[in-house]
Parts: sequence; C-alpha cells; structure tokens
Amino acid sequence: MILPADHSADAAIIGGGFFGCMIACHLAEQGQRVILLEREENLLDKASYRNQARVHQGYHYPRSLITGLRSRENYTRFVSEFGECVHTGFEKYYAIGREFSKVNAAQFELFCKRIGAPLSEAPGHVKALFDRGLIEEVYRVEEAAFDARKLAGLVKRRLEKNQVRVWTRTEASRVEPASGGLRLHASQSGLPVGIQASQVYNCTYGDLNGILRGSGLPLIPLKHELAEIALVEPPAPLANLGITVMCGPFFSLMPFPSTPWHSFSHVRYTPHAGWNENTADDMSPAEARATGTPVSRVEHMRLDALRYMPEVGNIIHRKSLFEIKTVLPVNEKDDGRPILFRRDCGLPGLHCVLGAKIDNIHDILDEIDNAEAPPARHAA
Ligand SMILES: Cc1cc2nc3c(=O)[nH]c(=O)nc-3n(C[C@H](O)[C@H](O)[C@H](O)COP(=O)(O)OP(=O)(O)OC[C@H]3O[C@@H](n4cnc5c(N)ncnc54)[C@H](O)[C@@H]3O)c2cc1C
Repeated sequence: MILPADHSADAAIIGGGFFGCMIACHLAEQGQRVILLEREENLLDKASYRNQARVHQGYHYPRSLITGLRSRENYTRFVSEFGECVHTGFEKYYAIGREFSKVNAAQFELFCKRIGAPLSEAPGHVKALFDRGLIEEVYRVEEAAFDARKLAGLVKRRLEKNQVRVWTRTEASRVEPASGGLRLHASQSGLPVGIQASQVYNCTYGDLNGILRGSGLPLIPLKHELAEIALVEPPAPLANLGITVMCGPFFSLMPFPSTPWHSFSHVRYTPHAGWNENTADDMSPAEARATGTPVSRVEHMRLDALRYMPEVGNIIHRKSLFEIKTVLPVNEKDDGRPILFRRDCGLPGLHCVLGAKIDNIHDILDEIDNAEAPPARHAA
C-alpha cells in the first residue's frame, strides 16, 4: 500500500514491540487517535520475542530490593491481565552457587522474605540433579514464562479493537517541532511519510538513540549487549523444570513457551559484545547489527553448565536467537531493572520509553496516567 505523504494523529508511537503496542492501545482507549509505526514486517518480533520469556517475580534481583518489590507487584498484575499467554505448567527452581556467587543462600532467603516471594526447599530428587560441591542450596519458587507469540496475538486484537492505525515496514527517522505539536518523519518502501502529532512516543528499545540522533537531540546514556538466547531440546529429566543458578557467571534453562524447547543462557557467554552508547560517536545498535550474526556459543554454555548440573550435557541445540539487550548504565552494579520514562525528551511532546522487562508495562502505563497530561489536541 502506498501511503499519502501526510497524516495526523493525537499520538504517534514509534516501535511495535510489546511496549509500543500496549501504549498505543492505552492511549486509544482514552479516546486518542493513534498511529503506530513498526520497521519490521511483524509486531513483537524483536526484543519482545527474542528474550528469555521469564515473567519476573523478583527472585532474579537479590541485589536490587526495589526491582524485587516492583516485580512482585507487577507479576500479579501481569498474570491477571495476560493469563492466557502465561505458562505456569512447570516447576521452577533457583540454585545458589557456592563460589563466584554475589549472594549466598542465607542472603537469598532473607531477600525473598523481604520482598514476600514464596520459597521452599527443593525436593531431594531435584537437589540430586546438581553437583552439591558447587551448589550451596536449591529452592523451589513460583515463577512463570510467557508465550511471546500468544502475547503478539492478544496485542494485535487489542490494537484492532481500539482502531489504532498500524503501519508495519515503516521506519521513523526524526522528529521536529511543528505548528500544533510535532512532525514525525518516516519512510515506507522508500517513500517519505510525514505524521503531524501532538505527542510522539519513542518505544524503540535498543534503538531509542537512533531517533534522538536523527533529530539532533542529546542521547540517553544506554548500555547494550549483543545477546544470544539458545533454544534447546532439554533431556527428559529437565523437560518440566525451569532452572536458574544465581548470582554470577552461571546459567538459566527454562521453558520457552512459543516453541517446544527451553531457552538456555549463560551470564558469561550469552553477551557476545557489550558497549555503552553515550555520545553520537559511540557505536549504535544499527551499526552493531550490520556486523552480522555471530557464531553460536552454545557449546561454551553447555560445557560450563554441565559442571553444575550434569544433565545439561544432554541438551540438543535447535537454534539461537540474537538480540541487542539494552539496560541503563546506572544498573550495572545492582542489576536492577527500573523503567525509563523520559517525558519531553529534548522536545516538548517527545517521550522516550525503555521498559527493561516485560511486566514493567504496568509501571509505564501508571507513569503515563499519573503524569500531568496535556489536554488532548487533534493535530491539524
Ligand atoms: C536477550 C534478552 C533477554 C531478556 N529476557 C527477559 C525476560 O526473561 N523477561 C523479561 O521480562 N524481559 C526480558 N528482556 C527484556 C524484554 O525483552 C524487553 O524489556 C521488552 O521486550 C522490550 O519491549 P519493547 O517493546 O520496548 O522492545 P521491542 O520488542 O524490541 O520493540 C521495539 C520495536 O521498535 C522497532 N523499531 C526500532 N527502531 C525503529 C524505527 N526507527 N522505526 C520504526 N520501528 C522501529 C523494532 O523493530 C522493534 O520491533 C530480555 C531482553 C533481551 C534482549
């Protein structure tokens, strides 16, 4: 479809991942006219699919009490709102490494108590799967995984219901002030498209600075990692289990519900590269992607993980998903995952959003509702 060059909306959303789509639905439900732009052919196909699919309940963040507490609250909200996309039909265990771990078992127990996360001793047959010389303790926990494909289906139905105009294969490049609000420049199949909008939400995750760069605005300091999530067929004894070894250079193996496989990641080997993007001279995710897909490191992951859990040696690698993972540099030490919601980011009406983990959507929508919203204006 060839689009006419000019369009208008109350809000234009850049990025059709989970966050962009949910914000689009939220604003449309409030009566705003919304246009959503996605560069790829499909929605929720980038970070919102290429991740570990864990619905966080706090256990993963023993060094950040605030992220632990927010995860606890948002877990309940996420499971209640997106229950049809949440897979709970497996047993989830967290194990604590004896050496190299940043927390010990006593600290982990105390942390779970503080955030009110359910925890119990793992049964003997599960403990027996671990090398107890390397693993101090194993706990049964309550944690789910989400099915990203089902989530995409649900989100698409909501977008339709709320009459959000969705343009895929449309790449936004820059935003500039214009009479009555902002003008967003984009291209579809090489043809320029312009959108006049009162508000523009930049929901491009790792590419947040791409829009800011294009618009000549200051960048947001971000930390990127080129990450590999291996999808593997687990051996029978691990088929119904999700395992996470904490809190250091260890691994996770847990169901990846949109496939018959488990996701497999390793703190040391999953990141193929890591860098900060603070200034226009730093490498952008687009430049990193242009260097091509790296060779899988799943064999390194397997060889290290089987020392802790010998059955991991019997996984069968099916494929790997590569994605740039983006976090805030400020969380490098505590591994926390707060949201970034930067209102009027360089320009009045341009808002930048980084969700950091999927359940944080509730914090973002609360932030949008709580902020003193300017009166909805219909752009000319
Ligand atoms: C390896 C990895 C593991 C993770 N594990 C977990 C986990 O277990 N649990 C959890 O909760 N979270 C996890 N996360 C984080 C989670 O995936 C993200 O917080 C979430 O998916 C971000 O959603 P989003 O909509 O912001 O980004 P995305 O889903 O990436 O959406 C952004 C969209 O913007 C589009 N876009 C970019 N630039 C433009 C442009 N110029 N014009 C138009 N469109 C554009 C992209 O194509 C993309 O579709 C993980 C992330 C990674 C990478």
